Amino acid sequence: MPSRKMECIVCGRIFYEGQGIRISIAGKEYTFHSKSCALKFVKNLFLYLDPKDLENAAKLAEKEFIEHLKELREQRKKNLERI
Ligand SMILES: [Zn+2]
Repeated sequence: MPSRKMECIVCGRIFYEGQGIRISIAGKEYTFHSKSCALKFVKNLFLYLDPKDLENAAKLAEKEFIEHLKELREQRKKNLERI
């Protein structure tokens, strides 16, 4: 069965279902043929968000990545100590 055709909402390129990137926001699905088109959309999305909400969201997202990196570094250290 042929895959369903999808259209990138940023550049208009046609791609097949299963390829590309999908972002779901509040039940609506947005489709992009590549990560770079998805990133363009997300960057544009920031322009329409309340700056205070965006600031809080950025801090929370950064915190999550900092904690993830900390865990990775601790894990690497443990692996080195085992050698
Ligand atoms: Zn595209």
